[in-house]
Amino acid sequence: MNMRRLAIILLALALVVGAEAVLLTRFAGDSASAPQATATPVPTAEPTATPTPTPEIDLEKTKPNEAGEVPIVMFHAFVDELDPNETYSNDFLRYTQSLSYLRDLLGRLYEMGYRMTSMNDFLNNEIKVEAGYKPIIFTFDDGTPSQFSLIEQDGALVLNPDCAVAVLMDFYEEHPDFGLGGTFYVNMGVSPFYEERSSGQQLAGTLQERLQYLIDQGFEVGNHTYSHYSLPDATDAETVLYQVGKNQAAMYETIDGYTFTSLSLPFGSTTADLFEYVKGGVYEGVEYKNQGIVEVGWDPAISPVNPDYDPYSIHRIRGTGFLAEDCDFEWWLENPREPEYVSDGDPNTITVPEAYMSLVDQSKLGSKQLRVY
Ligand SMILES: [Zn+2]
Repeated sequence: MNMRRLAIILLALALVVGAEAVLLTRFAGDSASAPQATATPVPTAEPTATPTPTPEIDLEKTKPNEAGEVPIVMFHAFVDELDPNETYSNDFLRYTQSLSYLRDLLGRLYEMGYRMTSMNDFLNNEIKVEAGYKPIIFTFDDGTPSQFSLIEQDGALVLNPDCAVAVLMDFYEEHPDFGLGGTFYVNMGVSPFYEERSSGQQLAGTLQERLQYLIDQGFEVGNHTYSHYSLPDATDAETVLYQVGKNQAAMYETIDGYTFTSLSLPFGSTTADLFEYVKGGVYEGVEYKNQGIVEVGWDPAISPVNPDYDPYSIHRIRGTGFLAEDCDFEWWLENPREPEYVSDGDPNTITVPEAYMSLVDQSKLGSKQLRVY
């Protein structure tokens, strides 16, 4: 049996399962103008008569491929510009960028057909980007104030205009179809988004006010351990429970009910022996569970439907710093790897060109329908 035939059979099966919901939705939507639609639909065992439930898109024009790869970019710190009188370490230059670079990058990504999506949508295989566009995810590690911070202005707390979030929100205002998003991996033990570590400058707002502001704008917050701990150093489960679990417990104490769904490994390294405690556990009665674990990688992330997709080893690309390097994000923009993920615009359907069906593990589709073309 060839793959197309198999896909058609699976689609037919999915249609049978989904037919009732689809019919109900259609009848509800049509009822005002079409009174005959209120008649009870007769259940049928014949899938051939059921209309296709997926929205019509021009496949040749939009060329969706949801088995493709998604760039998940990792940022650390930003400055207005470098001080020509100062000497900087290579590490600083690798992990730091200017806010004007970020502004320029957003414009280029927009023109290249990228649209912002969230880590949670990726983890849930619920990418909602418009048909024909490529999802991209921004992540920010370490909770530096140059990523996001508040300042006091005339007695009120306002967004610091000199931070990455202000750049993202300005761009979103001008280009609402680009989307707004980003996941901030924080260490609750070192007061995220507060003290500029290089200068010691302290910014405004309580921890609760800062995190709530970020969440209210639609950003996500993730786990980066309590004190930016190097997990390979852990020799017992208690240490990992403390570092990962206490970070979640501190988040609950700060923002009631806010659950981290993913963790970014500090220094990109983990513990093999105690990895199950990185994934989840219970710390002083507080349960934590990481649906995804992101690494400090060097290439785009494979699709959640890929047979090799491992939610506990999600690759990221380092955002290009002042010191550019091979396999950083600018390098990948110049050397894209096929296939890139191109959305079909419908989070309920996974659309894949027939030639890429080997990149689809059908057991990972869940309730989603597969469309092959
Ligand atoms: Zn870090």
